[in-house]
Amino acid sequence: MRFVDIVVSSSQGEKKMFECQYCNAKFKSERTLMVHVCEPKRRWMNKDEKYSRLAFYAFNRFYELTHAVGKPIDFDMFAKSKFYIGFTKFGKHIININAINPEEFIDFVIQNSVKLDKWTSDLVYNTYIQELNRKESADRAVERSILLMQKWGEEYERPFNKFFKEVSKPLAIHYIKSGRISPWVIFNSDNGAELIDSFSDEELVLINDYLEPSFWTRKFNARVEDVQFVKMILNKAGI
Ligand SMILES: [Zn+2]
Repeated sequence: MRFVDIVVSSSQGEKKMFECQYCNAKFKSERTLMVHVCEPKRRWMNKDEKYSRLAFYAFNRFYELTHAVGKPIDFDMFAKSKFYIGFTKFGKHIININAINPEEFIDFVIQNSVKLDKWTSDLVYNTYIQELNRKESADRAVERSILLMQKWGEEYERPFNKFFKEVSKPLAIHYIKSGRISPWVIFNSDNGAELIDSFSDEELVLINDYLEPSFWTRKFNARVEDVQFVKMILNKAGI
């Protein structure tokens, strides 16, 4: 129990002093100790915040994947690590950008030997998204994209299958750039293809790196059965 405050006696054994177990500062009253906040205590108090849990998970994965430490890692080791700030910044970043499959994203930055201070850069996330889109199976891509359409439908109170016809262009660009809507679905739906056709040259420049038309043309030619499957699902759903 880390939050049990330790009561210590002074050297004379008369006047009681209250010591912060995180930074060892001493206080005359227990109340002062209770309201006292120092950086080590703050790290422990925020232990169960989502960003902190993600950061601690990433810290663990880092040592697991790089085999840097043989023993199990506890939170104390993390809280005292010089990398604490870098990892928690990354935890907050994952939440801010609402990263797809956070665990996979964490493994991605570690396995690609990205330097910790670059983990929060847009370029790194975009590369991750491109790779995720490229590697993802067709059925998973369809499932994920339809879930997004349903979320959109709830928010705008529209049937989800009107997504490609009615989504605003800026929002569509945002979804494409953040990898939320898979090329599997965009290119294999007539309405999706029409949406792409409706973009201006300037808008296409913004999304081309994410859509990678030549990559997907090659992929679709090699995966005819998957393409048929995707088209069948999208047709049935009226997307
Ligand atoms: Zn303290």
